[in-house]
Amino acid sequence: MITIKSAHEIELMRKANQIVRDTLALLEENVKEGVTTARLDRLAREYITRCGAVPSFLGYNGFPASICTSINEQVVHGIPSEKVFVKEGDIVSVDCGSIYKGYNGDAARTFAVGKVSEEKSKLIEATKQSFFEGVKILKEGVRLGDLGHAIQTYAESLGYGVVRALVGHGIGKNMHEDPEVPNYGKAGHGMRLRKNMTIAIEPMINMGTYDVYMLEDGWTVVTADGLPSAHYENTVLIKEDGVEILSL
Ligand code: MG
Ligand code: MG
Repeated sequence: MITIKSAHEIELMRKANQIVRDTLALLEENVKEGVTTARLDRLAREYITRCGAVPSFLGYNGFPASICTSINEQVVHGIPSEKVFVKEGDIVSVDCGSIYKGYNGDAARTFAVGKVSEEKSKLIEATKQSFFEGVKILKEGVRLGDLGHAIQTYAESLGYGVVRALVGHGIGKNMHEDPEVPNYGKAGHGMRLRKNMTIAIEPMINMGTYDVYMLEDGWTVVTADGLPSAHYENTVLIKEDGVEILSL
């Protein structure tokens, strides 16, 4: 079901998303050579809780942590672990969600650890830019196909693969609501976005093929060719004349 948010609901979502944004900023300072992904997870859980919110990922369909940490060829849903040490040259995608007074925030960033290769650093930048290429055309009445098309066209023009198997989503009282928000699509197709809808737009861009598969842990999604992948996500409010990015 697609929900249109009231002013009060939007205010709570703003707060939930600001908490996510600030959590990601805190993690960015801590993503360094030698840190475990479990430590990043603890920092996130403590911070979100201190803000009076709840880490929405913890226990979601049985997920065992408060953030997802996906390194290099891992696309999304990597599980934080005491055994996983971040290394110089890695790129680490961190996905984070919080619930504040019943409303959800959801955002993701990909961080470079120390000095990374030029191709990895370009991938991170392009993934972020693909989000903004989509957002640039957004306002009330724009179709989901137009959004996906804008993201896809930009990413593919650089030779990257746009993940098809996972998509963005509506967000509100639930982290995942209708509609699905693909990062690919046909211009002029799909439903029209309406004012005061809130959606999470989250391009997952691969250096090589868009094909992915899931590891045996039942969570971690990796690229089929083993090449790196990056992720960038924000929760966005649709307005008459544009958008408000709630998690920036
Ligand atoms: Mg997310
Ligand atoms: Mg999301």
